[in-house]
Amino acid sequence: MELSEIREILGADQPGFRARQLYQALYRRRVAAIPEISTLPAALRHRLAEEHPLGLPALERRYESTVGTRRYLLRLEDGRTVEAVWMPEPGRDTICISTQAGCPVNCRFCMTALMGLERNLTAGEIVGQVLFVAGDNGGLEEGSRLNIVMMGMGEPLLNLPNVIKATRLLTDPGGIGLSPRRITLSTAGILPGIAELGREPVRPRLAISLNASTEEMRRELMPITRKYHLKDLLEACRAYPLRPWEKLTFEYVLLRDVNDSDADARRVVKLLANLNAKVNLIALNPGPGIPFESPGPERVLAFQAIVRRSLPCFIRKPRGRDIFAACGQLKRNS
Ligand code: SAH
Repeated sequence: MELSEIREILGADQPGFRARQLYQALYRRRVAAIPEISTLPAALRHRLAEEHPLGLPALERRYESTVGTRRYLLRLEDGRTVEAVWMPEPGRDTICISTQAGCPVNCRFCMTALMGLERNLTAGEIVGQVLFVAGDNGGLEEGSRLNIVMMGMGEPLLNLPNVIKATRLLTDPGGIGLSPRRITLSTAGILPGIAELGREPVRPRLAISLNASTEEMRRELMPITRKYHLKDLLEACRAYPLRPWEKLTFEYVLLRDVNDSDADARRVVKLLANLNAKVNLIALNPGPGIPFESPGPERVLAFQAIVRRSLPCFIRKPRGRDIFAACGQLKRNS
């Protein structure tokens, strides 16, 4: 709940400062239960505890990778489960969170697609993943160098109102207080969502899963793009209101002998010319039911070398393939 909603549930007979007291207890002090909020009168605490259950997603299982990555299988109130991933690095930790249980976008290289969509997550369930995983890893410190990527299960732009509300809660300086510069949302390219996102005053950075260098290949790999054409996607990117510190990120999953040739790399450069963009290459993380192979490291480097002549281009290193925690592998498998 945001402050305005908290005001509403408190009712008009409570003094104005109560809502802020409760909000701060929830999002700054992060109390585990309503009765702990000693700044509130006892009668109010009782009523709130009864009417508004408070809590975070529950740990169903935690998988530990040899590289420090931790994958969390988290259980929601209705018994559905989602995954979140903790990726520690010197000076910068990242939490990857889910925005939907399952995913309705049918990308042929992604294991989450095999589940289909179960449902949208609420803003509370999105924020709850961050608070749970941060809490399990030493807590959220003031001015922390924590990055949040909405790149877990689901398509964030098909759950935009909740994603935006979660972003406001995560970034409110009077509450959790993360920087919006450190939150990134990745989309398969839902065009109406991109336009809508651009109109939001508080929004994450935008990353776009490009994944192919031609319209035909993109349609084949990401069937949803039959509806949202590559040409229109690039148009929407040109129209997107970037903030002064912001670049668009394009992700590109490399599939051996499918979209990983030098010619593909040159076409990617052409497509992204005139955009303030950078490219993140991801060598396919393989998995059961995925009919593609990963290119070798030399191919990935050769692809990068071509793109890098024109644009910043990075290779995303796979973190936690051994526990199925890497990109495209989130599927609740144990
Ligand atoms: N639905 C959103 C959010 C998921 S982000 C989106 O499509 O962007 C997950 C990222 O991992 C996407 O860039 C996707 O293209 C990539 N990905 C999916 N499956 C993968 C796999 N098997 N190996 C490597 N990357 C994969």
